[in-house]
Amino acid sequence: MTDPTRHILCMSGGKDSTALALYMRDRVPQMEYVFCDTDKELTETYEYLNRVEAFLGKKIVRLNAKAGFDYWLEVYGGYLPSPNMRWCTKMLKLKPFEQYVGEQPVVSYVGLRADEDRVGYISTKSNIKAVFPFKEDGIDYAGVMKILEESGIGLPPYLKWGRTHSGCYFCFFQRSIEWVRLLETHPDQFEEAMKYEKISDQPGKTFTWNQEMPLSELRKPENVAAIKQRFAELEERNKKNRKNMKLVEILADMEDEDDGAKPCLICQL
Ligand code: SF4
Repeated sequence: MTDPTRHILCMSGGKDSTALALYMRDRVPQMEYVFCDTDKELTETYEYLNRVEAFLGKKIVRLNAKAGFDYWLEVYGGYLPSPNMRWCTKMLKLKPFEQYVGEQPVVSYVGLRADEDRVGYISTKSNIKAVFPFKEDGIDYAGVMKILEESGIGLPPYLKWGRTHSGCYFCFFQRSIEWVRLLETHPDQFEEAMKYEKISDQPGKTFTWNQEMPLSELRKPENVAAIKQRFAELEERNKKNRKNMKLVEILADMEDEDDGAKPCLICQL
């Protein structure tokens, strides 16, 4: 009898899940690759996934074809998601994945690295068993970089302009400096993000992506300059602390820099 177990790797467009897909390609040829599309990802994430798809020689199944972010925003009465109300992760990432998985036994491959101690997505569905090949095989940050480099796929493009994680272009987990970089790199997507914000005098009716200030304020030259200055000072302090670190350790450390809540792993890995 054939084993009914399915093998599924959920990709985010980030470097770790991409490296894992490349790493598993020949190890688990029956792997199914999926991407939970919010319809609001960075433009380059879509292009990057197309390249990865060509390398894998297999379709990356895009979930949510019919109901993206705007659909769910309406269902949630126009309330923008926030770190305290993450309906977006639930409705656009977790649920579609679980629906796609169905009821058959499934092995879900998660791209947590050997040098991380975070907890990955573990479904509460009893038919899903999560596995962590990078942890099992001792593949750390440097190992992931090597896989991406040797395959010719390289890093996700957003890392080159200073964004730290994949996901929606308006993700509320972005730091102010990342909003500035979005403004400078993708002004059209910054503009789109701004259109979602609502400023009101009525209590409880104001919605902004960034808790510090609305995007219409953040984009003003004096605020952009202040954010850049603040970030440069922070970097200077961090540089001193990293004096004796190797380059890969510095890069991993930069990725871990945190000034608030972390995005969900399913959006970010
Ligand atoms: S990337 Fe951010 S905004 Fe998009 S679904 Fe994930 S948590 Fe929500």
